[in-house]
Amino acid sequence: MDQKFIVGVDIGGTRIRVAISTIDLKEENIVIKTISTPKESKFSISSAVCRLIFELLNENQVTKEQILGIGIATAGPLDIKTGEIFNNANLGFREIPLKKPIQEKFPSIPLDFVNDCNGAVLGVHYFEADDDEKDNLVYITVSTGIGGGAIVNGHLLYGKDGNAAEIGHGLVEPKSVLQCNCGAYGCWEVYSSGTGVLKRTLEAIDEGNLDADILMKLVENNTSKITAKEVFQASRNGDRLSETIVNQCIFYMKVGIGLVNNFYDCSSIYFGGAMMNDKDIILPPLIEQFEKNSIIFTINRPPRLKVTQFGDEIGLRGALVLAKYKLEKNSIVS
Ligand SMILES: [Zn+2]
Repeated sequence: MDQKFIVGVDIGGTRIRVAISTIDLKEENIVIKTISTPKESKFSISSAVCRLIFELLNENQVTKEQILGIGIATAGPLDIKTGEIFNNANLGFREIPLKKPIQEKFPSIPLDFVNDCNGAVLGVHYFEADDDEKDNLVYITVSTGIGGGAIVNGHLLYGKDGNAAEIGHGLVEPKSVLQCNCGAYGCWEVYSSGTGVLKRTLEAIDEGNLDADILMKLVENNTSKITAKEVFQASRNGDRLSETIVNQCIFYMKVGIGLVNNFYDCSSIYFGGAMMNDKDIILPPLIEQFEKNSIIFTINRPPRLKVTQFGDEIGLRGALVLAKYKLEKNSIVS
């Protein structure tokens, strides 16, 4: 019974996922538990994380002493040194301490933190990137917002606090009157995130200039039923207004990808997040643009564009990889 294990934790606005695995990260050895994110107090998240880890240990007959390291990927912004979240908008509190309360329950186990998208790029790196992609790799989540993580020259880019590659708040329309959740105007996620697509759709319906009959029929004339998913479905069915919004989303995806490639000169970009449920609509025009005429959007050689095969589990997998790479003193996370 001297087998060793690692723990991965992924903290998001909707769900917390915790996994225990042997350090070889073989598929059959990864066990996962998921709960809804509790938001009652500043310590609800750390308490829930500890409870889930103890449950996994008990259910798999693993002792605390067999755990070599814990990797935690979380929605941010996050200070990876103090293990505290700050300025957060969707976890119930702006400041949330994680490291101190979790370390109290696991005093002698190394605890490492990473911003969620920076964690996800580690997951892609270990679980699915080709060898010629690994050293210069970007992950982009397109979901409620847009976030990113970048490995450049074989090193994960952390930044001073651990929040590098906040690409969703890159300015793509400087004269925009459309305000982002962050407070700025004209951020990329204002146009291409799920929230952005929904807001733009509701505005266009209010303006009344475009035919939205197919979309309105789909939601039984109830605009509160509209999400980005319905907009993409209506666009598929030929709805004029939805097609316009989807095209706008795709255009700004091109702008955003161009900026990312100019900044990081990446071999590949892997996409994840709920918007990739409609990858059949989003991805082909992006691939065509960057294969045939990339210079309009990026001066650098264009990257390959792919979608992660692990869906919304990629962040959790990245947290496990963080724990593994830290233990192995892998220079990617140094
Ligand atoms: Zn913003």
